[in-house]
Amino acid sequence: MVCKVCGQKAQVEMRSRGLALCREHYLDWFVKETERAIRRHRMLLPGERVLVAVSGGRTPWPFGTC
Ligand SMILES: [Zn+2]
Repeated sequence: MVCKVCGQKAQVEMRSRGLALCREHYLDWFVKETERAIRRHRMLLPGERVLVAVSGGRTPWPFGTC
């Protein structure tokens, strides 16, 4: 399994999306997908603080505050 972006060994495979990514490109993808979801669903107003925690599935997810 190789990263769909760079062709290096993939660290994460998301079968439901047909996507495999190395660590670097997974982190890029995760940030962009999170930003896209926040904008699409208008979850935040400028200046608001957020605590994020995600669990579940076989793949570990990062969590933190923004
Ligand atoms: Zn990659």
